[in-house]
Amino acid sequence: MNKVALVTGGSRGLGRNMSLALAKKGIDIVLTYNSNQEAANDVVAEIQSLGQKAFAFQLDTSNIRLFDGFFKRVTEHLQEQTGRSTFDYLVNNAGTALYALASDTTEEQMDNIFNIHYKGVFFLTQKALPFINDGGGIINISSGLTRIIMPGSSVYGSIKTAVESLTLYLAKELGARKIRVNVVAPGAIETDFGGGRTRDNKEINSHIAALTALGRVGLPEDIGGVVAFLCTPDAYWINGQRIEVSGGQSI
Ligand code: NDP
Repeated sequence: MNKVALVTGGSRGLGRNMSLALAKKGIDIVLTYNSNQEAANDVVAEIQSLGQKAFAFQLDTSNIRLFDGFFKRVTEHLQEQTGRSTFDYLVNNAGTALYALASDTTEEQMDNIFNIHYKGVFFLTQKALPFINDGGGIINISSGLTRIIMPGSSVYGSIKTAVESLTLYLAKELGARKIRVNVVAPGAIETDFGGGRTRDNKEINSHIAALTALGRVGLPEDIGGVVAFLCTPDAYWINGQRIEVSGGQSI
């Protein structure tokens, strides 16, 4: 029976690439999107053309009230389509950007980032636990910005740091079920994130490339394979780790 991975924010950017990379390893995919149903359906079709099962569900991961209903829908659908209501891997990837100096940050901006990048991740994981098979895994997506300090990312960077700490606690608590919990911290990647500024703003792009040992900004395909590897038996002894995938940014 194929393993199944649930990837939040699988419609675009890093989550899309992760979903495709996981599917190439023979893993079936449940992906979520927030508003881009068409993009999500395109990823589903691409995964199906690789010979894997794929299903897309709408979910605002910043709204924890939706999570019980979401898991009801997902597990019923999995039961129907695969004969099993459980899954093996959870990838907490969905998220939005915030660039604001500490002096200018509003309470609303902080609440938005907290809800999507921490509270949502915490409770989605909590609600997922009864449905994750023992021996499975959880991967939280953090950011290079927990190590690399850049003005304008105080809230985003420190909330991602909280997710890295949460990862260690979860790894400890879930060890008895042989569920591994790791964090992948990408450097700056060319996606739509933050209005696509890393990709589209030439000044920002070349500044980051110059700070990066491998001499360029990251691409989604630099990340997906690392997440997929963590969901294979070869990674069975990797647990409670922060794996930065940044091409050597600011080292
Ligand atoms: P994108 O903007 O390209 O994609 C964001 C994805 O998250 C989309 O699938 C989007 O769905 C989904 N999403 C956005 N808001 C919500 C919400 N409220 N509820 C559910 N889903 C939502 O971003 P990236 O792929 O670049 O970022 C993915 C993750 O990687 C984030 O956690 C980000 O913090 C992290 N990261 C990104 C870096 C970068 O430079 N790009 C660097 C380091 C970390 P929809 O298509 O429906 O809008």
